[in-house]
Amino acid sequence: MIREIQLRLLPEEATCEASLKTVVARETGVKTDDIQAVRILKRSIDARQRTVFVNLKIRAFIHELPTEPEFEPIEYPDVSKGKRVIVVGAGPGGLFAALRLIELGLRPIVVERGKDVRARKRDIARISREQSVDPESNYSFGEGGAGAYSDGKLYTRSKKRGSVEKILRVFCQHGASPSILADAHPHIGTDKLPRVIEQMRAQILRSGGEVHFQTRMERFLLRGEEVVGIETHTGQCFEGPVILATGHSARDVYRYLYASRIAIEAKGIAVGVRLEHPQALIDRIQYHRLDARKYLPAAEYSFVAQSGGRGVYSFCMCPGGFIVPAASGPEQIVVNGMSPSTRGSRWANSGMVVELHPEDIPTIYSEISASSPLCVLQFQEQLERMCWTNGHRQVAPAQRMEDFVHKRLSSNLPSCSYTPGVLSSPLHHWMPAFVADRLREGFLRFGKMSRGFLTNEALMVGVETRTSAPVRILRGANLQHVVLRGLFPCGEGAGYAGGIVSAAIDGERCAESVAVFFS
Ligand SMILES: Cc1cc2nc3c(=O)[nH]c(=O)nc-3n(C[C@H](O)[C@H](O)[C@H](O)COP(=O)(O)OP(=O)(O)OC[C@H]3O[C@@H](n4cnc5c(N)ncnc54)[C@H](O)[C@@H]3O)c2cc1C
Repeated sequence: MIREIQLRLLPEEATCEASLKTVVARETGVKTDDIQAVRILKRSIDARQRTVFVNLKIRAFIHELPTEPEFEPIEYPDVSKGKRVIVVGAGPGGLFAALRLIELGLRPIVVERGKDVRARKRDIARISREQSVDPESNYSFGEGGAGAYSDGKLYTRSKKRGSVEKILRVFCQHGASPSILADAHPHIGTDKLPRVIEQMRAQILRSGGEVHFQTRMERFLLRGEEVVGIETHTGQCFEGPVILATGHSARDVYRYLYASRIAIEAKGIAVGVRLEHPQALIDRIQYHRLDARKYLPAAEYSFVAQSGGRGVYSFCMCPGGFIVPAASGPEQIVVNGMSPSTRGSRWANSGMVVELHPEDIPTIYSEISASSPLCVLQFQEQLERMCWTNGHRQVAPAQRMEDFVHKRLSSNLPSCSYTPGVLSSPLHHWMPAFVADRLREGFLRFGKMSRGFLTNEALMVGVETRTSAPVRILRGANLQHVVLRGLFPCGEGAGYAGGIVSAAIDGERCAESVAVFFS
């Protein structure tokens, strides 16, 4: 017999299968020994009240063992004789587009400017060790895209449940733990993601697709108003319709589009800092009990407020994580966050950012015109350069949280996870007032919402600017570019996604649109 049951349990009751069997026996009156297996279908933590609960939907197998698999794997056909489609960029948008193309019988030719995910790891380590950023291989560029060395959180605001579940199943098929199918806040971790990405590449190659690393697209091949392929930095040409999934940091791509008069527009972003607390402090605030971490994962938080007509909010929180140097070129400091699958570090970080619209830019930097489609990109560049000027190489400027709120330079800094190092700097002074004033107000509000959150134990590290694309590449019917046939702007860089899962969903949709284009 199979029974599905909703449970609301104390954390200690939800730790393992044995304790769950005891609970199921209590709830159903069945003997514990008769419960052969318990499968968790949905799991979420409710930490809103003083007593923390774990909400579970489980399937109990009584007098029988599970026979069905946790997910149905996709059969990828051989497409070596299929029509060619060029996929530029091997981030989640490009990789999921390639896999979906295969499902649809089309042959993906993936072109990626960076290195494979293993080789890339060495370049990333070099950023902290040698303080130098390889402009073709870094936290943004290389196999797996910006998501490869990330927290690997897979939650999204996308309301398309079916699409989200499909993406999670594809991750599982390529090696991610099936627990991501159950968790309300699924997470893979930076230590596990590279292996998953390698398996995806292996599937693309097994099915007859191609993957070209260290191959940068330089321009489109055009026939009238149709994109019929690309030319790379070595002059090599690849022919076929193009899925352009180059991410939000490919500024050369945006500049090429602008110079070629290909329709794009400026898009709003959010900017601010990474804020890092000791994880133990966040655990105490959220879980209200000292032994919580025996049973519960590193605690998360999420804040949002309004200040001066703009949102101020926490972004991409990484419990038990690290702040990382995410610059993609020289004379920039950009920070982001990641965490391993265990979320076991001593720190909790998140982006603390202020929403910014294109029309805000001239009020901050009067020399930038809001009428340029590149105005938000130019703003990002200026702020990242300013951060670099106020830091030292990849050593980032930083300030204690209460010192920032009270406009004081920090006389010393707490230990922190950012391995290139931090330097005390008056962020309240040199960050644009548009951002600094709103962050200050936001911090005061968050401190009231959550006692202990506004503290000098927390460190702000500058600057977080790559929260989403500063440009939108305009799409029309069937996800094609508004003017150019055969061009499918895709994922975060095109301005239609934000985060791993939504970029992956958009990749799949673009692949489906190419199939329609061929039909
Ligand atoms: C450190 C970090 C942590 C993050 N953590 C999370 C998280 O936990 N959860 C989450 O949902 N999101 C996270 N993100 C954001 C997430 O990674 C992105 O939203 C997602 O990767 C966007 O996918 P994409 O495929 O659209 O673009 P990208 O992942 O940016 O991929 C674009 C790819 O295109 C390649 N490329 C660029 N230009 C060219 C060219 N001219 N020719 C050939 N190739 C080119 C790049 O090298 C890159 O590999 C994180 C980002 C960073 C940097």
